[in-house]
Amino acid sequence: MSDLPATLVVLGASGDLTRRLLLPGIGSLLAQEPDRDVRVVGADRVEVEASTFDAVLREALAEGGAADEVIDRVAASSSYRCLDATDSAQLQELLALASGVEDDGGARDGGARDGDGARRVVLYFALPPAVTARVCEALQPLDLPAELHLAMEKPFGEDEAGARALNALVERLVPEDRVHRVDHFLGMSTVLDIIALRFANRMFQAVWSAEHIESIEIAYDEALALEGRAGYYDHAGALRDMIQSHLLQVMALVTMEPPSSITERDLRDAKAAVLRATRLWGGDARTASRRARYTAGVTDDRRVPSYVDEDGVDPSRETETLAQITVEVATSRWAGVPITLRSGKALGTTHKHVVITFADVRHLPSGLTGTDPKDRLVIGLNPDTMELRITTNAADDSLALTQSVLRADMRHATLRPYGEVLAGILDGNGMLTVRGDAAEECWRLCDEVLAAWADGEVPLEDYPAGSDVPESWGPALPPGDDAA
Ligand code: NDP
Repeated sequence: MSDLPATLVVLGASGDLTRRLLLPGIGSLLAQEPDRDVRVVGADRVEVEASTFDAVLREALAEGGAADEVIDRVAASSSYRCLDATDSAQLQELLALASGVEDDGGARDGGARDGDGARRVVLYFALPPAVTARVCEALQPLDLPAELHLAMEKPFGEDEAGARALNALVERLVPEDRVHRVDHFLGMSTVLDIIALRFANRMFQAVWSAEHIESIEIAYDEALALEGRAGYYDHAGALRDMIQSHLLQVMALVTMEPPSSITERDLRDAKAAVLRATRLWGGDARTASRRARYTAGVTDDRRVPSYVDEDGVDPSRETETLAQITVEVATSRWAGVPITLRSGKALGTTHKHVVITFADVRHLPSGLTGTDPKDRLVIGLNPDTMELRITTNAADDSLALTQSVLRADMRHATLRPYGEVLAGILDGNGMLTVRGDAAEECWRLCDEVLAAWADGEVPLEDYPAGSDVPESWGPALPPGDDAA
C-alpha cells in the first residue's frame, strides 16, 4: 500500500464511467484493502445534492464489495462540488479542498503539503476528451498541489497530433511519472498473468520468438451491439475504441523484450520500445486492415437493427463496428510473424482472447497418421482462462495424431480491473498506466489505417448482427474446448 493517503478528485463525477466503473473499482479496492485511506471528491457541472452523491458513492462502493463500516468511513470524508472544470478559479478552489486546505483548520490532515499529514491528490479526468484538453489549459496558471497526479481516460487525444499536443500540455503541469493514461485492460487479471507466463516459465521463454511462433491473434469480439451509445461510438468506431488503446497494450505485453524488473520505468520502457518497432503488415493499410459494419440480425437472442438505423447514428460517417489490423514487430525476435488485432460488436461467437500459434515441428516422424494440428496457447481475456492445445496420440489409435487441451481456470480476482489500475495510481505508481510516448505510437499505427479508410482505399464490408467474423478475414480459432 501507499506511502501517502490519497484524495481522488473525479472530474465528471455524474457521468456514466464514474458511476459504473470508477467508483465500484474503488469499492473492490477497499474490499481488498479496507484500511486504505482514500477520500473521494466528486466534481461535475451537473447540480447534485450532497445527499444524492453520498447515496451514489455508497451504492457504488458496496457494488465493488466494500464493507459497510469502510463505506461509512470513506463516505464521511468525501464530498461533491458543482463546477465548470474548465474555469481556473473554480479548479483552484477544488484543488484546495482536495488538498485539505479547507478541511476544518487542517484537523483531518493537511493536503499535499510535504511532511507529516500530506495527501496525494489524484485528479481523475472522467470527462469528454475535448473538455479534458480545456481543463489542462485551465490548470496551467494555477498553484498545483505538490503531490498532484493526473489520471486521464481514453481516448487520449483523437489522433497522433492530438495526443502529442495533449502530452505537451500535460508536461507543463506535472512530470511524466505523475501522469496516468488509464487503460483498464492493463488491470485485467489475465492480462497481468501474461507477465508471469512469459517471464517466470522457462519453457515459454525459450520459444517466445519468430523461430517458434507462427502467428499471434488478439481478439475482443462482443455480442453486444450499440446499446444506445451512438453519441460516443459513432465518432469512435471499433478501431479507435478497442484497438488503438486496449488491444495494442495487450500486444505490447505479449511481444515486449523481457524487462529486468517489473517496475514502472522498466515496464513502460519495454512496452514503448516494442510499440515503436511495430509497423502495419507489408507497410500498407490497404492489405493490412479490414473494416465492416453490422446489418440487422439477432445477437444474444435479441433482434438488432442495422447499425445505420440505430438511434443517433450518422450513416455518412461510415463508422465501422468491426475492425482488424495486422502488424509486424520489426525486431529480430518477431520479424515475419503476423500479429492480428481485431474487435467488433454484435458478433455471434464472442472470442476474447490472445492466441499464440506455434510453428509446425521441423520433422514429423513417419508412421504417425492424420493431420498434425497446430499447437496453440490460448489466453482468455474474458473469462479468465488459459489453454494449451498440444498434439498427442489419439486414444483409440496410438499412432494417430489428435489435439489435447490442458486448461486452467485462472484466479478469479476480487479486484476489478479499474480497482487494480486505481490501486497503482493512488499509490503514485504508473506501472499499469500508459506513458505518453506509447499513446502516441498507438495513434501512429491507427492514423495510417484511418487515413486509408477515409480515402476509401479499404472497402467498408457488411456482416449480419449475430454472425461470425467473415471467413475471408483469416482463420478463426478451430473449434475445440473453446471457452476462451
Ligand atoms: P459522460 O458524458 O457520461 O460523463 C461526463 C461528465 O462530465 C458529464 O456529467 C458531463 O456533464 C461532465 N462535464 C462535461 N463538461 C464538464 C465541465 N466543463 N465541467 C464539469 N463537468 C463537465 O461520459 P462518460 O462517463 O461515459 O465518459 C467519461 C470519459 O471516460 C470519456 O473520456 C470516455 O471516453 C471515457 N470512457 C468511458 C467509458 C464508459 O463506459 N462510459 C469507458 C471507457 C472510457 P454534462 O452531462 O452536463 O455534459
